[in-house]
Amino acid sequence: MIEVEGLTVRYGVATALDEVSLEVRDGEMVALIGPNGAGKSTLVNTLFGILRPAAGRVTTTGRLALVPEGRHLFAPLTVDDNLRLGAWRDRKGRDTGPIYELLPELVPLRKRPAGRLSGGQQQMVALGRALMARPDVLVIDEMSLGLAPLVVETLAGHLRDRHAEGLAVLLIEQNARLALDLCSRAYVLEAGRVVAEGPSAELAGSAGVAAAYLGLE
Ligand code: ATP
Repeated sequence: MIEVEGLTVRYGVATALDEVSLEVRDGEMVALIGPNGAGKSTLVNTLFGILRPAAGRVTTTGRLALVPEGRHLFAPLTVDDNLRLGAWRDRKGRDTGPIYELLPELVPLRKRPAGRLSGGQQQMVALGRALMARPDVLVIDEMSLGLAPLVVETLAGHLRDRHAEGLAVLLIEQNARLALDLCSRAYVLEAGRVVAEGPSAELAGSAGVAAAYLGLE
C-alpha cells in the first residue's frame, strides 16, 4: 500500500529525512512514533507529493487519504459540508449517510459549524472526511494531540473497526503507548532516521523505546 525506500528529504542544507525506509502492507495498521522534529511532517508531506525527495522513492497503491495534524476543517461550514469535501474528486458528490453510520457521534452535529465543535468532535469530522474518499490506506497525523483520554479511546475504537474491515493505516503519533497498542508493527523515527522497527510488542518491551517513549525505566 505504501512503500518508502531510502527516502532522503532536505530543506536547503538541512537533512530532515535520511534514507528512511518503511512499508505499510495490505490491510496493516502500522505506527510511526518519534519526538518533535523527528521528521514526521516531512514524511507526510512527501507521501502526498507536497515535498520532493532528494533521493529514494515513495510507491503507493490504492487510494490514499490523510487525516492531517490540526484537522484543517472549514470552520464556518457545517459538519455535513466538511464531510462532503472529502469526496471532492467525485463530480456528482457523495452521500454522507454511510459516514454517519460509521461515526454515529456525528449525527446530532451534522448541521453545526465545524468551528463550534470540541477538539474531539472536530477530530472525528476529520476522520469522517478522510473516509468519504473511500481510501484503501489512511495516513493519520497526530490524531490524539490535545484530546482527553476518553475521546482518544472512542477514536481508537473507530480505527480498530475500520481496520477490521480491511482498511490499512499509517498512524503517526507522539503518543507511543496509543500507537503501539493499536498497531501490530511500528517504526521509531529520530532526527530523520528510523532507529528502531518491529512488532509493537517487541518495541514496547525494548528498554530504549520504553524509557524514551513510554515513560518507563
Ligand atoms: P513536529 O511533530 O514538531 O511537527 P516532525 O517530526 O513532524 O515534528 P518535521 O516538521 O518533519 O518534524 O521536521 C523535521 C526537521 O526538519 C526538523 O529539524 C525541522 O526543524 C526541519 N524543518 C521542517 N520544516 C522545515 C523548513 N520548512 N525549513 C527548514 N527546516 C525545516
